[in-house]
Amino acid sequence: MPELPEVQTTIDGLNKKIRQRRIISTWNDWPKFSSVEKTQGHTIKKIERIGKNILFYFTDPHILLVHMKMTGHLLVGEWKIGRDGVIPIKPKEMKERINGFIHFILVLDDGKMVAFSDVRKFGKVVFGTLDEIENLPELKKLGPDALKISLKDFSERVLKKKKTIYQTLLDQDVVAGIGNIYVSEILWQVKVHPLTPANKLNKDQLKEMCKATKQILSKAVKFRGTSVDDYRDASGKRGGYADHRLAYGREGEGCKRCEVKMKRAKKGGRSFHYCPDCQKLN
Ligand SMILES: [Zn+2]
Repeated sequence: MPELPEVQTTIDGLNKKIRQRRIISTWNDWPKFSSVEKTQGHTIKKIERIGKNILFYFTDPHILLVHMKMTGHLLVGEWKIGRDGVIPIKPKEMKERINGFIHFILVLDDGKMVAFSDVRKFGKVVFGTLDEIENLPELKKLGPDALKISLKDFSERVLKKKKTIYQTLLDQDVVAGIGNIYVSEILWQVKVHPLTPANKLNKDQLKEMCKATKQILSKAVKFRGTSVDDYRDASGKRGGYADHRLAYGREGEGCKRCEVKMKRAKKGGRSFHYCPDCQKLN
């Protein structure tokens, strides 16, 4: 699932490519994405991120919210309009993803298009007024952004939770932006076992964790995110952080600190990666 670094990379790409462009038509092939039809005629002012949500602000007081969920990603390309409507003629670098996975397209007034590719179709799209979107419960209850949260806020929010630190960091209402990949990276970095109860962490651990969260996510933004599966940036390119991973997806490989074999475990349907030696459960 795209997490903060991937979503940030996506909006950086979109802001470079499609600001001030007017949407002249739209296409979609799935009822849950049909609200994109309402964007026709609107001009894109800027694209922002709230947690993992992408918000297209228009020059009038409307917003299109896109959540990429598990496998979604937004691509910008210059495609042609075919006889039967919008048939994307794919640029080379997008070819691998495009067949059958594009579920909506925004056609812009300069010949470019924004396409939403989503293999699993879990993505979410909502169009509304500023008020309607900003008051959506899923945005209102989001915790502070993982790159901006203060140590005080981080500590207070984490210590309120009895569940594991792994589940707590994934909880977008505690802190927004962290998912499966970066939670394993953060906990490995600070040598905390993923199943440690959040409210049992001490002051030093919380301080280290808050710091590691920002360091790891900033570094991942610098490398334009992680593409271990579906994620691609707005130009269809893979993110470069996968080569810098120290925990996620490394089960069976030696820990970069102690060389003990890394493990993968599952809880509540989501898996995590950790070093059984560096990250002991006390
Ligand atoms: Zn280790």
